[in-house]
Amino acid sequence: LDIMDEKNIPIRTYQVCNVLEPNQNNWLRTDWIPRSGAQRVYVEVKFTLRDCNSLPGVTGTCKETFNLYYHESNEVRESYIKESSFIKVDTVAADESFTQVDVGDRIMKLNTEVRDVKVTTRKGFYLAFQDVGACIALVSVRVFYKTCPLTIRNLATFPDTVTGADTSSLVEVRGSCVNQSEEREEPKMYCGADGEWLVPIGGCFCSPGYEEKGGACKACSAGFYKAKSSDAGCFKCPPHSHSVRDGATVCDCHSGFFRADSDPPSMACTQPPSAPQQLISVVNETSVVLEWAPPRRLGGRSDTSYNYPRMGSGSISSSQLCLPCGSDVLFSPGQTGLKTTRVVVSELRAHTHYTFIVHARNGVSQASGAGAAQSVSVSVTTNQAAPSPVSSILAIDVTRHSLSLSWQQPDRPNGVILEYEVKFYEKDQKERSYRIMRTFSRSVDVTGLNPLTVYVFHVRARTAAGYGEFSAPFEFSTNSDPFPLIGEGVNSAFLLLSVSGVGILLLISAAVFIISRRRSKYSKTKQDSEEEKHLNPGVKIYVDPFTYEDPDQAIHEFAKEIDVSSIHIEKVIGMVGEFGEVCSGRLRVQGKREIYVAIKSLKAGYSDKQRRDFLSEASIMGQFDHPNIIRLEGVVTRCKPLMIITEYMENGSLDAFLRKHDGQFTVIQLVGMLRGIASGMKYLSDMSYVHRDLAARNILVNSNLVCKVSDFGLSRVLEDDPEAAYTTRVRRKIPIRWTAPEAITYRKFTTASDVWSYGIVMWEVVSYGERPYWDMNNQDVIKAIEEGYRLPAPMDCPVVLHQLMLDCWERERAERPTFSQILNMLDKLIRNPGTLRRTGGDRPAGTMLESGMGSEVCVSVLPEVCVPEWSVCEWLQSIGLERYRDTLAAAGYTSLDSLLALTHQ
Ligand code: AMP
Repeated sequence: LDIMDEKNIPIRTYQVCNVLEPNQNNWLRTDWIPRSGAQRVYVEVKFTLRDCNSLPGVTGTCKETFNLYYHESNEVRESYIKESSFIKVDTVAADESFTQVDVGDRIMKLNTEVRDVKVTTRKGFYLAFQDVGACIALVSVRVFYKTCPLTIRNLATFPDTVTGADTSSLVEVRGSCVNQSEEREEPKMYCGADGEWLVPIGGCFCSPGYEEKGGACKACSAGFYKAKSSDAGCFKCPPHSHSVRDGATVCDCHSGFFRADSDPPSMACTQPPSAPQQLISVVNETSVVLEWAPPRRLGGRSDTSYNYPRMGSGSISSSQLCLPCGSDVLFSPGQTGLKTTRVVVSELRAHTHYTFIVHARNGVSQASGAGAAQSVSVSVTTNQAAPSPVSSILAIDVTRHSLSLSWQQPDRPNGVILEYEVKFYEKDQKERSYRIMRTFSRSVDVTGLNPLTVYVFHVRARTAAGYGEFSAPFEFSTNSDPFPLIGEGVNSAFLLLSVSGVGILLLISAAVFIISRRRSKYSKTKQDSEEEKHLNPGVKIYVDPFTYEDPDQAIHEFAKEIDVSSIHIEKVIGMVGEFGEVCSGRLRVQGKREIYVAIKSLKAGYSDKQRRDFLSEASIMGQFDHPNIIRLEGVVTRCKPLMIITEYMENGSLDAFLRKHDGQFTVIQLVGMLRGIASGMKYLSDMSYVHRDLAARNILVNSNLVCKVSDFGLSRVLEDDPEAAYTTRVRRKIPIRWTAPEAITYRKFTTASDVWSYGIVMWEVVSYGERPYWDMNNQDVIKAIEEGYRLPAPMDCPVVLHQLMLDCWERERAERPTFSQILNMLDKLIRNPGTLRRTGGDRPAGTMLESGMGSEVCVSVLPEVCVPEWSVCEWLQSIGLERYRDTLAAAGYTSLDSLLALTHQ
């Protein structure tokens, strides 16, 4: 039928209005709709629906809803589809938001409703509408799916991506680097179900010669360069260099300037140094001291060195003949790469003419090919000098009474050798009595010796300049053995001493090392304990049960032994590890009323370690006494199975509880739960207890919605938590998604890392048990956090709560709030629920918020301005406790102000 739309234009509608007849079952079906790759489609239906009350004379047959169905199919033209082949999407009723349309003289309300449905099995689908007796006109049906639109993030392009099949599924998409860029780390993003891109990780760098501009890589212009892809952008060419074309990766040096291989492209081009200046020489016998001043120009570099004073040598008589100097000449401190401007050259020949060339070099000397221009030279003649010592003596013939010795000319005779002098004595006599022999030749026969006696020999040479020094001692024995006993003048006793001395030294240093290690370990332990615990006098401090040698002593100090006959087990409610289970039941202790309890038991077959770990939880729990910490009733250790009895929490663990009641609580109720957890955690942190595994799954909820922290004991974090995983960096398991980065990287678990986990619990609570970081893998989570990514505000999350989460996730742990500050903040929010009204999707309300001031300022300074109209009744309603209205009124609490005076008790 035709009706008029808002602008009075006739539109075509499907109508039905059999409200007077019972048992209506009228169907309207669409043509085949291709799925086109979509996995979840949205159906937007616009319709008008008559209010049954406005139809005169109709009875119970009139309906105000219709049903939406779908049927997946590969067939484009199915002529007949059975009713039963359709799957129901939803029953649709008119909602409250509508526009008005005039139809003739009647005013009708146009409703818009959207439903979504997963379509993954066939190429397309049909939609159908079932009327069961309403007065209805279907005006339009729009079918669409969502995509995350093509985007560029961190220089990577991510294509237009169809969202996943489920409302919470994330589609992982790999990006590709934009033109002229290269991968820094694999670019990745997730396409969320609502068509929003989430969690960009990794990305690309512009290639050398290019820099980022507006999400693309543009070539560096002339006069600029970029050498490495990781450089921040194009830089101006350094001094004495230029680039003439766009896209330079390095700037060329101006002519006459150079760059060494090791010079970075950011360094100015430089020149070789000029020659050293004022070279002077001082001769002392066969040594020469050379000194010079640095070059006048260093060429813009600081790496000038002086390469060996090179020289030629020759005798004075044939001074024209220059030869390179021999390898026996000594240079101090060295011959090449000198940084000082002084060198001592020794062991030169006597009476010899030398020319020394001092060469200044720097990093570009080689590249520039610069040579003589950088040198300065000086010529000297050495003085006369005595010959150097004879370096070795050989015994060539040995008899019982004689020794025939021979030796080489000294390395530096420093003139014509006129004779040799041989000094010798019996070894036992030392030098108290010795004999001297002189000879022109390089050998001597020493006779008249005693048999089987060790003699010590020294030889020296004489020239016109006098005697040189005696050689080192050489020992020979007059027995039939022609070999020297110990050659080269080494003393065996000394050798023995040195060997044992080295041994003793090693022993001593090993002992010193061990002692110093022990001392430093001790002082570190002391330091750690001092750093970790700032003890306040009078505050109860948690005692680690593992400090007790006997675990049973700890358990009996902190937990009450319960007689197993007073426990009545009812049913199993959970499993823990291989040997444990959790049951609910009742406990009746004499003189007290019966209470419901949870009974955690460890069945036979456990190891000693398992027993200790199991009971450690009770030893820890038994030390706590707080309304938001799970209370220990007692333990059974005297018979098997071992049991830990705690108060019973009817609603089980918080994560499962929230998932079961998705969307059913007011924000104030959620904040109330968070307040309880924060209060319990404040208590634990006051006792210096670090939880390490704070997560919604480890919070229990009772029938009054009171949340209590549970799951204590270090080993539990490692063994039992299914979320605990190994990372590449740590040896122990850690629940990655809940753990602060410093605890993951270097196991720094503190109250501040518990605060991080608390922020994650806040997110879990406000998102009704959604998994933090959805189905991202652990490595990606670690990477994303390192890159500064933080979980976004869950749907309808008040801005102040998300800000508090972000504060808990500060990278610097000192910047995170304390549990005491968190508790104060939540208390303020509960007292002023108006501050919780603003969510991320809203426009900021009120001038204070609009002026950009923190919401906490609004909370603490202007509560009346924020919530002027709130009464006790409204407040109770908002937190779901209106049943206490009369009780409070009867007790005189009639205004919010009077309520502020109420304490937690
Ligand atoms: P746990 O090993 O403490 O994590 O316990 C395993 C499961 O048993 C929990 O996730 C709860 O569902 C249940 N549970 C443990 N303690 C209690 C309790 N005190 N009251 C109710 N349920 C509990």
